[in-house]
Amino acid sequence: MADQTAKIKICVVGGGAAGLCAIRHLVGNSKFDITAYEQTNEIGGTWVYVEQVGLDENGLPIHSSMYQNLRTNLPVRIMNFPDYMTMEAQEPSCVSHQEVLNYLKDYTKHFDIRRHIHFNTKVEYVRFEPSEDCNCDRWHVRVKNLKTNETEVRYFDAIIICNGHYFNPYVPIIPGIESFSGLILHSHAYRKPEEFSGKTVLVLGAASSGIDIGIDLSDHATRVYLSHNNDRLTGVLPSNMTQVMGVDSINGTTFYLKDKSTVNADAFIMCTGYKYSFPFLDENCGIRVDDNYVMPLYKHLVNIEHPTMCIVGIPTIVLPFPMFHMQVQYFLALLEGRVTLPAKSVMLEDSTLKTLRKRHAHRLMDQQWDYFDSLATAAGFERLSPFYKLGYIAWSFQRHANLLRYKDSKFIVSEDGKNVELILPD
Ligand SMILES: Cc1cc2nc3c(=O)[nH]c(=O)nc-3n(C[C@H](O)[C@H](O)[C@H](O)COP(=O)(O)OP(=O)(O)OC[C@H]3O[C@@H](n4cnc5c(N)ncnc54)[C@H](O)[C@@H]3O)c2cc1C
Repeated sequence: MADQTAKIKICVVGGGAAGLCAIRHLVGNSKFDITAYEQTNEIGGTWVYVEQVGLDENGLPIHSSMYQNLRTNLPVRIMNFPDYMTMEAQEPSCVSHQEVLNYLKDYTKHFDIRRHIHFNTKVEYVRFEPSEDCNCDRWHVRVKNLKTNETEVRYFDAIIICNGHYFNPYVPIIPGIESFSGLILHSHAYRKPEEFSGKTVLVLGAASSGIDIGIDLSDHATRVYLSHNNDRLTGVLPSNMTQVMGVDSINGTTFYLKDKSTVNADAFIMCTGYKYSFPFLDENCGIRVDDNYVMPLYKHLVNIEHPTMCIVGIPTIVLPFPMFHMQVQYFLALLEGRVTLPAKSVMLEDSTLKTLRKRHAHRLMDQQWDYFDSLATAAGFERLSPFYKLGYIAWSFQRHANLLRYKDSKFIVSEDGKNVELILPD
């Protein structure tokens, strides 16, 4: 920043958990002048359950992928932001989406976040436009007020992108899919199992959503085929749920599977994940997405081409809220000059593909703990308490063993805090 006394004008895109966390860490820091934009009329992002699918009242695609019966797939005790540990559910350890939204509302109130957010305001376009006056980074941001249709261009010194990563469905190319005559949807548009009463449903994909939606459906559908190419799930599944191989092609209501067998279904739900999407970023921002590999990012976060931009929440198979807490603090330390970036070549090396498939480039899983520590150590803020890792390990174990019941288990922390167990109810 050229003028050391001027406030850093910072823009936050999105008012979901990540955007709220970004604002929380900016609030009260006199070095920053905060402006945040949220395209819907409320905070919470994907935790806001919206019954309709398709377009909202402003003509925008519905952002949230929440469904009516969703309960968290993580124990909420380890979903808490480390500086706001008020989700205390012990048994059952996993709670409804409404409870998480209430938590985010409380967090917003507690940290006086809301007044910084311009609601019903969509970020339409972002371009890098270095300022000639100060030879410093400048972000041209065009926003549209969706109520008045007025657009405005504002300039910022830094920008934090928190637009969410579960709103743009990945739809696989399946030969013959156009011949399928039944009900077909992506999990993004799944809301209620009752709509599938009496139907045979093929659910494609056995990651979190596929398993969860398959189980949700099983009380209403006649039969659920969980179609996937991963290792077979070993725990007990609902009696009307059968695992089959992935889909090769479709003809009418017949699904041809990878092992040459066939099944018939009259509904088809693709739980095939999402594509990272930043539709408002001009090419000159330097961010590219190739088969869900977002580049070039240092520490899966900082835009290497223009380090006054970061994208929060890229890593997957992590604890999202605690991760936002760590990522945001790192980025603010960078803007404040408390962290110095390494040479560009070192950052580019950090962003090279380390996995076999591009689409797994941001999967962290067991590496998340070192990742969080590296952010904290570099920027000199508090590490994540070992409590989270202990809880995550206990959860992974219980979920693996008891897919049907793990959400009901009891979350028990030993008195000295050094042990966490998840115990199934009798
Ligand atoms: C079905 C489902 C279940 C999940 N279950 C869990 C769980 O149990 N536990 C857990 O920890 N995590 C879970 N997650 C992950 C969840 O996505 C994260 O916990 C977290 O809520 C993501 O927050 P976010 O702010 O990154 O994104 P979002 O919540 O998607 O928020 C992004 C916000 O940005 C706004 N926005 C987007 N584009 C623009 C724009 N151009 N201009 C202005 N505003 C914009 C959107 O309207 C939205 O409000 C789940 C996700 C899904 C989809």
